[in-house]
Amino acid sequence: MTIYIPTLRPRIPNIFRPMDWLDELRFDSAGLIPVVAQERASGEVLMLAYANREALQSTLDSGLAHYYSRSRGSLWQKGETSGNVQHVEEVRLDCDGDALLYLVRQEGPACHTLERSCFFRAADARELVPAGHGGDMLSRLEQIVRERDETRPEGSYTTYLLEKGLDKILKKVGEEATEVVIAAKNQENAELRSEAADLLFHLVVLLRARGLPLAQVWKELDTRFGKASRIPAGSPAVDRAT
Ligand SMILES: [Zn+2]
Repeated sequence: MTIYIPTLRPRIPNIFRPMDWLDELRFDSAGLIPVVAQERASGEVLMLAYANREALQSTLDSGLAHYYSRSRGSLWQKGETSGNVQHVEEVRLDCDGDALLYLVRQEGPACHTLERSCFFRAADARELVPAGHGGDMLSRLEQIVRERDETRPEGSYTTYLLEKGLDKILKKVGEEATEVVIAAKNQENAELRSEAADLLFHLVVLLRARGLPLAQVWKELDTRFGKASRIPAGSPAVDRAT
């Protein structure tokens, strides 16, 4: 777990005692601080709850999200009874230290209603309507493919691909990649848009078939930021920052 702390202005430097970032937190008059939990891989916001100092300490010690229940007046570990625990991978403080962000890997649904996120309702004028997935599109696609793989619904194209096996999926990835190349030679982008969507879909199915989570692909990309350019020698001069 890493702790990310925004640039904090040390109050008065104290050479006798190392500054503890917990001391920078501004708990409210009841000793609580709001905590937003966000799924790290997809960016989806899962829930809002409160922590006191003890809950925060338990989170830091165990790596599992702990909160303080205002209604029960007690410390609780998320998923203690349901098993839907939150693995806290990073803790962030906001600019003025009066709110926290847990970046988590959520097991099962985060909400007690068994919805993935507590924010599953959207306000539409004066009505509430079901909210769509709050994470990024590829994570959403990965989730749908995972569900199809686990349940293998009949008539689903994903089920068909997974049951045909790796060679069939590889053939499709190859075909779709070629179709992207051909479509990109057209003036209009309509075909490219459609072929790019096909390629991404088949790539996500391939990753699922090989058991490689998208999160690991993101991690790989992340290690490349800020590295020296890998543009081969002799390439035309382009923006070398990326
Ligand atoms: Zn909820």
